[in-house]
Amino acid sequence: MPDHNRVYILGVPIDPVTFDNLIDTIADWIASGDRTRQICTASPEFVMIAQENADFMRVLREADLCVADGVGLLFAARYLGHKLPERVTGSDGLPLIAARAAREGWKLFLLGAAPGVAEQAAAKLVHNNAGLQIVGTYAGSPSPDEETAIIERVNASGADILFVAYGAPNQDTWIARNRATLNVSAAVGVGGAFDFTAGIIPRAPRWMRRFALEWLYRLYKQPWRWRRMLRLPRFVWNVVWHRHNEIKKSEG
Ligand code: UDP
Repeated sequence: MPDHNRVYILGVPIDPVTFDNLIDTIADWIASGDRTRQICTASPEFVMIAQENADFMRVLREADLCVADGVGLLFAARYLGHKLPERVTGSDGLPLIAARAAREGWKLFLLGAAPGVAEQAAAKLVHNNAGLQIVGTYAGSPSPDEETAIIERVNASGADILFVAYGAPNQDTWIARNRATLNVSAAVGVGGAFDFTAGIIPRAPRWMRRFALEWLYRLYKQPWRWRRMLRLPRFVWNVVWHRHNEIKKSEG
């Protein structure tokens, strides 16, 4: 991983992995322990930010894994003639990775979100997974002046996996900038996953997730998101336009 089956959506690579593949890959990385790998939990919003932010595009392209967190990526992939096996969200991934971590003895560090939220998320995860080792929680900020102190804190904890919840693109550019000095096997940008795990923001009901309407629920709960969500129709338009151009090119 990543392999040649990566799907490119408007230049952003998406790996066709399931949760099981993802967690087995993390297990391999921890076993080899040679360097810090980066995982991005991509969504249509990531793809649209990357169209205007070359640094973020480079980070996504150089990450070890980009998983399809947003359902829009699954639709877009299918529309462009590719297949992604399932939606792999940071919010579902965090508890699944925690469950495996408790069995394997992997140590986790939760960085980011508002003060106190990472602690609450950690308490929930430990409550649900006996023996889980969360070796650090810290809100901090993605500001460059805090970087050195945060890296020292994470490295001193002996964590195997670092989850970073600063939202995109900051969490992902933060990980990319600090990869070389971090001593963890995997660093994952997880957006609002601590807020969901801590129970501060409710997750959309299962039926809404099944009908690909999680975005609508988030808009209802957090209406200030409307401006950010304008990226969604722009994403659809860009994907349609891209396919139109590809077809025209192939017709020669
Ligand atoms: N956040 C933070 N520091 C910042 C900006 C954001 O800790 O400077 C946190 C915020 O509290 C939230 C997470 O980053 O927990 C981002 O959540 P958001 O819902 O925006 O991410 P998404 O899931 O939409 O990518």
